[in-house]
Amino acid sequence: MKAAVLETLEKLVVKQVDDPIIDDDSALLKVESVSICGSDIRIFHHGNPRVKPPQIIGHEVAGVVLKAGKNVTRVKEGQRVAVGADVPCGQCKWCRDGLGNNCAINYAIGYQIPGAFAQLMKLPRLVLEEGPVAQFSEALDFDDAALAEPLACILNGLELVNMGLGRTIAIIGLGPIGCLMIDAARAMGATKIIAAEMNDLRMAIGKKYEADVYVNSAKENLVERCREETGGEGPNVVMTTCPSVEVHEQAVEMVAHRGWVNLFGGLGKNVRPLSVLSNTIHYKECFVTGSHGCVPRHHELAVRMLEKGMVRTQPVITHHFPLDEINQAFETMESQRGMKIVIHPNR
Ligand SMILES: [Zn+2]
Ligand SMILES: [Zn+2]
Repeated sequence: MKAAVLETLEKLVVKQVDDPIIDDDSALLKVESVSICGSDIRIFHHGNPRVKPPQIIGHEVAGVVLKAGKNVTRVKEGQRVAVGADVPCGQCKWCRDGLGNNCAINYAIGYQIPGAFAQLMKLPRLVLEEGPVAQFSEALDFDDAALAEPLACILNGLELVNMGLGRTIAIIGLGPIGCLMIDAARAMGATKIIAAEMNDLRMAIGKKYEADVYVNSAKENLVERCREETGGEGPNVVMTTCPSVEVHEQAVEMVAHRGWVNLFGGLGKNVRPLSVLSNTIHYKECFVTGSHGCVPRHHELAVRMLEKGMVRTQPVITHHFPLDEINQAFETMESQRGMKIVIHPNR
């Protein structure tokens, strides 16, 4: 098969490699669509302790099951399946409690397990038994189904802030995550959605998601606008979907009493620590959380929401590339000329 192999840092080479070997307990997936995640770009430049090159990365996947070993019951040949990233080990306390994204091993596709920037991907026994593998109908396109992985992480994030009927929410940063989060928050009951962004291209795409209020945070005072739009109280929920420590601070500052802040977007390595007055949290009785990845339940839910059209992916998918042009695809993503970029390894 043809695969893009990360040979060393910043060296992604498209070449012929051996097809994965399928035993009685594993299955073979023909990769139709695999989207590029911000974390793929970080692994490309800086590596990751869980990725040992040479490795095939890529974890936002949808395809067709070509072959299933005789002991496999989770999938059948010919089925369309989406596959997510985090795979619970199934053994530790966290995984047994259904919180596998907190697992110390933290197995993931495209990390310890070979990923999907390839024509074929093996679904080993652990992935089939414990992992995020969800079937979907012909009603859903492969590109959309690949985005079930980031959507699943969004659902985990929204659960952690008790998203529910009647809440006001500020989503700060309209990359692909912030955009999909607008639809997801609405589906979960938000009655007022305030979306903020500084980049014009991202704002234009974000507007297709029809939030109630859009704030250009390069030109307006974000904290003041969010307070004004919520009758002076501040939003019940603030989600930071951008890598900015300043935004983390603004989020705590603007959130309503008894509200929730989710520091959703991870930050780079050498970013200064968060600086907030403890008393702000103390007097507001607010809740500050983070969120990292998701568990298979979220991935399954994400696929069902996409099938129902509750979350739209098309506005954020700006580019498609064949596998041969994956380096160009990475550059397009990094230059911020594109939003979500999908690779089609078999087209
Ligand atoms: Zn991802
Ligand atoms: Zn575990």
